[in-house]
Amino acid sequence: MEKKLQILSDILRRNGYSITRPRSLVFGLLNDEEPQSMHDIYMRAKGKIDRASLYRTIKIFEQTGIAQRVYVGWKYKVELTDIFLHHHHHISCLGCHKLIAISEDEQIEKLIQELAVKHHVVATSHQLEVQGYCADCQLSQAVLSQ
Ligand SMILES: [Zn+2]
Ligand SMILES: [Zn+2]
Repeated sequence: MEKKLQILSDILRRNGYSITRPRSLVFGLLNDEEPQSMHDIYMRAKGKIDRASLYRTIKIFEQTGIAQRVYVGWKYKVELTDIFLHHHHHISCLGCHKLIAISEDEQIEKLIQELAVKHHVVATSHQLEVQGYCADCQLSQAVLSQ
């Protein structure tokens, strides 16, 4: 965590922001967690930050590449970027909004690198999100349509 906070303050400083209490608080709430909705983060902050500052902080984190959105349908959750987490992708269920993390998959990563090379691009990052219906939701759909 010590090292992560150092990286956090470096990134903020480089972008002209200082590390403030609300910023380190929000970072702490995102650290080592699954993607969370703004509501989840707000509830976990237990009144230590107001909604406006939370949204402002997340906006700064997104602009500076500290955090990113993971879309589940048209809604989104927030997580830290690859700078702080192991690179991974998600599959989300549109039925129950469950998020399944896919840890680094060699074939996908290789394919993306190959695509980038083919288009003469030096790829520095990518996001890949898959949406659909999980096994449980497929089952309940089948039951409903009987
Ligand atoms: Zn589901
Ligand atoms: Zn990837």
